[in-house]
Amino acid sequence: MNKETLLDLSSAQLTSLLADFSEPRYRVRQIQRAIYHDLVSDYEAISTIPKKLRASLAHSIPLQPLQPVDSMISPDKRTRKTLFRLPDGETIEAVLLFYDERRTVCLSTQVGCAVGCSFCATGTGLLTRDLTAGEIVAQALHFASKLREQEERLTNIVYMGMGEPFLNYEATMKSFRILNDPDGFALGARNFTLSTVGIIPGIERFTREGVQANLAVSLHSGDNVLRNRLVPINRRYPLEELIRTCRAYIEQTHRRVTFEVALIDGMNDSPEDARKVAALLSGLLCHVNLIPLNPVPSSPLRPSSRERIAAFARALEEAGIPVTVRLGRGVEIRAGCGQLRARNARSGVDRQ
Ligand code: SAH
Ligand code: SF4
Repeated sequence: MNKETLLDLSSAQLTSLLADFSEPRYRVRQIQRAIYHDLVSDYEAISTIPKKLRASLAHSIPLQPLQPVDSMISPDKRTRKTLFRLPDGETIEAVLLFYDERRTVCLSTQVGCAVGCSFCATGTGLLTRDLTAGEIVAQALHFASKLREQEERLTNIVYMGMGEPFLNYEATMKSFRILNDPDGFALGARNFTLSTVGIIPGIERFTREGVQANLAVSLHSGDNVLRNRLVPINRRYPLEELIRTCRAYIEQTHRRVTFEVALIDGMNDSPEDARKVAALLSGLLCHVNLIPLNPVPSSPLRPSSRERIAAFARALEEAGIPVTVRLGRGVEIRAGCGQLRARNARSGVDRQ
């Protein structure tokens, strides 16, 4: 049902498609340039190739799969969130964030998520399906094109939207390769961050890839009993094994791991909770990001106060763990994982 589009094709696959059309090799570069550099979104706009080839391509494979159906921009205009419809009618969302000099897009990798974290809007639903590489790539290209209209450039890509990237490993890594390919979108590997809830086999596989992309792990607690409640997959991949896997990743790649902690009022935000996180991460080449919970309408969980977040950060600092507090941004436009989609599902809104 999820039909392949041109954005699903690696350089080699595109080359082979054009060979099937008996086209000269340089057509590959012309098409790649049009899509990933000029950011065209339909074949008619690829003026460098013959009309006949445009028609043949349009006849055999759609260029891209996404149709934007709803968008919200925060009052300060620094967060833009878009809901897309996929060819099979499913919907996903992606977010563009302006932060200092960075222009970061946050990509979804699945429709829904099977992990079911208790505080996450995506996790309250089930997994409907994996996205294809092309559906992931298309989200980035959509925002790259929006940025181009403002004479801006996309600088960073984070896999932190709906879904668990390492439970859709192949498509996620293929999308990374296409977006990183010097002949594709050509964004440097160090500008990518993949965020996982802690899927150990995925982290091990990612370690073996030997790529320069960053790894983020959603930790949320340094205590197995509490983490089992917040992140149910902790029962399968408990903290000790998760940290052992992260340590192996760091030893192999010499790269710093980012640990994400969403602070929930009265749940995981006490000084004792901070000390447990510090003890767990002691001696690791890492960085902790503290994020106040983005409240989900259907959930009683609330974000921690600024004071408690500051105290948590201090406790980590005192233990020698580098930490950054990321104060809630985009709450006004429901930038939290899966929230725009949830709103749309409830109200049946369908606006352009
Ligand atoms: N499945 C992956 C990536 C997508 S979620 C993961 O869990 O890491 C991206 C990040 O958003 C994760 O760190 C996740 O814990 C966080 N997140 C989800 N819901 C949130 C909420 N309501 N408030 C704050 N952070 C949230
Ligand atoms: Fe899935 Fe990540 Fe949400 Fe957990 S936080 S339910 S793993 S998307």
